[in-house]
Amino acid sequence: MHTATLLKATGRVDLLRAGIWKPRTRPGAFQGVGEIGLRWLSEVKKNLDIPVTTEVANAAHVELCLKYGVDVLWIGARTTVNPFSVQEIADSLRGVDIPVIIKNPLNPDLELWIGAIERLHEAGIDKIIAMHRGFSYYGKGLYRNKPMWEIPIALKSQFPELPVFCDPSHICGRRDILEQVAQKALDLGFSGLMLESHHNPDRALSDAKQQVTPSDLVSMLDRLNVRSNDTLDPILTSNLASLRADIDKIDEEIIQLIAQRMRIAEGIGDYKREHNMTIFQLDRYMEILKTRSELAKELGISEEFIRKYLEQLHKESIRTQTKVMNYKY
Ligand code: PEP
Ligand code: MN
Repeated sequence: MHTATLLKATGRVDLLRAGIWKPRTRPGAFQGVGEIGLRWLSEVKKNLDIPVTTEVANAAHVELCLKYGVDVLWIGARTTVNPFSVQEIADSLRGVDIPVIIKNPLNPDLELWIGAIERLHEAGIDKIIAMHRGFSYYGKGLYRNKPMWEIPIALKSQFPELPVFCDPSHICGRRDILEQVAQKALDLGFSGLMLESHHNPDRALSDAKQQVTPSDLVSMLDRLNVRSNDTLDPILTSNLASLRADIDKIDEEIIQLIAQRMRIAEGIGDYKREHNMTIFQLDRYMEILKTRSELAKELGISEEFIRKYLEQLHKESIRTQTKVMNYKY
């Protein structure tokens, strides 16, 4: 209630999240207070006039949330991975009009995320928000969960009308990089943020390292730049259009050059065949990788990007050179 009061006072929070049932990796960790917490949530709602949301993992959770008037439900990453659980939740919501947030599954599987969205949609839920919270990986790294931004972006491109939010708290698992990840989400056009806050973060019973105080939350929100994806200002619009025209021209040139490169590769393939030489020649490939990576580095292009690009180019070049052989397998 104390945290909720502070958050309400910021005037910046549209929906208050609080986990009543917490899926924890190891038994023995704090697993949430259960049903009594729903009473606290309804008090928050009544006294502070702020809508509330909590995580549901089965039909019994849904039933209790509906009984206590929870405004929005959220399906956690550990539940989205399981179609049985998602279906159970969807079935328990038939005929109910309530918004549902669907977090991405733990593993980087876009189809599984889409599947969960479809199950809820087919049960008649028409207010759905997808929540990007990053993906599990083995070992330790910068993030608690790897963002793999391309996955939520692919989701958005397939379903342009679907609001996609970001949960930087679970991506980061720590406070110090939260702001940058939140800014990146806004720069990429996400429609909302879920951020964890606690009046005394170090004493939070779950995920203490990623919690921020309500006042730190507000300072961070104040520093964030909320971008809009279109503008009515004619000067901005025309500047943008001219920059885009430059990009269009460059892309066209790149594609023309790749086509030209493929034609030459095909010619080399014919020549190699006539002279009974192998198509793949390791030395040559190594030389290409080395010289191109050096040039890219000099020009400030990421090594990983150029390596991936060269691999694709080489693969296609080999395919072009072996095309005439009509291999079946
Ligand atoms: C949470 O939001 O507290 C939570 C458990 O998240 P996730 O399902 O993304 O791990
Ligand atoms: Mn959490």
